[in-house]
Amino acid sequence: MPWYKKLHWQIIIGLILGLLWGLFSTQAGLNAFTSEFIRPFGTIFVNMLQLIAIPLVLASLVVGVAKLNDITKLSRMGGKTLGIYFVTTMCAITIGLVSVNLIQPGNALPEETRDELLLSYQENVDDRRSNVEDALDRGRLQPIVDIVPQNAINAMTSNANMLQVVFIALLLGIGIIQINQKKGEQLVSFFDAFNDVIIKIVDYIMLLAPYGVFALLAAVIIDLAGDDLARAIDLLFALGWYSIAVILGLIVHLFLVYTVLFKIFSNMSLKDFFRGIRPAMLLGFSTSSSAATLPVTMERVERNLGVHEEVASFVLPVGATINMDGTSLYQAVAAVFIAQAVGMDLSLAEQLTIILTATLASIGAAGVPGAGIIMLVIVLNSVNVPVEGIALILGVDRILDMCRTAVNITGDAAVSVAVASSEGKIVAGNYDD
Ligand code: ASP
Repeated sequence: MPWYKKLHWQIIIGLILGLLWGLFSTQAGLNAFTSEFIRPFGTIFVNMLQLIAIPLVLASLVVGVAKLNDITKLSRMGGKTLGIYFVTTMCAITIGLVSVNLIQPGNALPEETRDELLLSYQENVDDRRSNVEDALDRGRLQPIVDIVPQNAINAMTSNANMLQVVFIALLLGIGIIQINQKKGEQLVSFFDAFNDVIIKIVDYIMLLAPYGVFALLAAVIIDLAGDDLARAIDLLFALGWYSIAVILGLIVHLFLVYTVLFKIFSNMSLKDFFRGIRPAMLLGFSTSSSAATLPVTMERVERNLGVHEEVASFVLPVGATINMDGTSLYQAVAAVFIAQAVGMDLSLAEQLTIILTATLASIGAAGVPGAGIIMLVIVLNSVNVPVEGIALILGVDRILDMCRTAVNITGDAAVSVAVASSEGKIVAGNYDD
């Protein structure tokens, strides 16, 4: 197959053209046109991905569980998944802390720029702070209560309820194992066929990916640059060291932590892994949403990395909701950066507190654009860094969100490979497109 027909190259071309169009549009005064006639195609693309997420998770997890003839396997797999998610998140935060302490981006921020940023983003900070305060008011155990829905139909009406859907699918799957085998098989074959249909739809949606990504990127650029590209570029430079600290940390995490993870659990090479998962990474980057990318992540992990449906259908939806290596790393860098910029020196104990709170904050962050910066409030509060400091980093947040989302998705996929390998539930994949 010629290189330009490969899916990931087509997505990359869409991405670059979208970027160029966005830049051209801000220079040629075409922002209103781009916003009105190009942006909607990006929205339609993301909506289509989101549209199939709940049916896909429900169908594939019911089938996955119902085919497990032994329920103890499920709890072993669940424990392993959560354990590895927890450890990789802690590693990510530690890498973020090392990166920000070495680079010290907050000390490089000129005072003038700091004051200007604090002033111009103040309003946006208040919005984010009140969101988190509302969430905290609901009680510490509320996230666990929220996993159990009162009403199955309601649970399936919002993608934000992914863990509730996982819960329902687990109950259904376990129920199917327990009833009369003949009857159970009828239900399993229904969900199995339904699952195949959804996977077909994912294939169709992926044909649109290059165009969707073009529209998404063009919209991101006009939002970032507005009518004043020069100011946006100045901002990028002012926050250059901070962005480097985040991106460098993400790269180290990708190559170091997943190499070690695969050394322990799997004999898949990191190169094959990245070849198999790259279209999902690119979509995560373009959409800034792990939840919207989930159908594609599931398809790539099962079809290209060879992970059995039993494992992928459980590990990935849970991961898209609670496992965010990229987000937690970014939160650690952001918290220390803000502290440095306002002249606070965080002690070792305070930095250890960040490891704990950034783990919780990333678990609590939804897989949607900008969720990580909302939950950052919790991390800042825990070490008494002024929440107003968020204003310092808002200007480049969208770009970093794209990068951290790509890592979030990669983390979920890597853990599904590790769990599947350790359970003997993986076959050689078709790593190329
Ligand atoms: N956008 C990220 C995600 O969907 C969450 C974040 O804002 O960090 O994974």
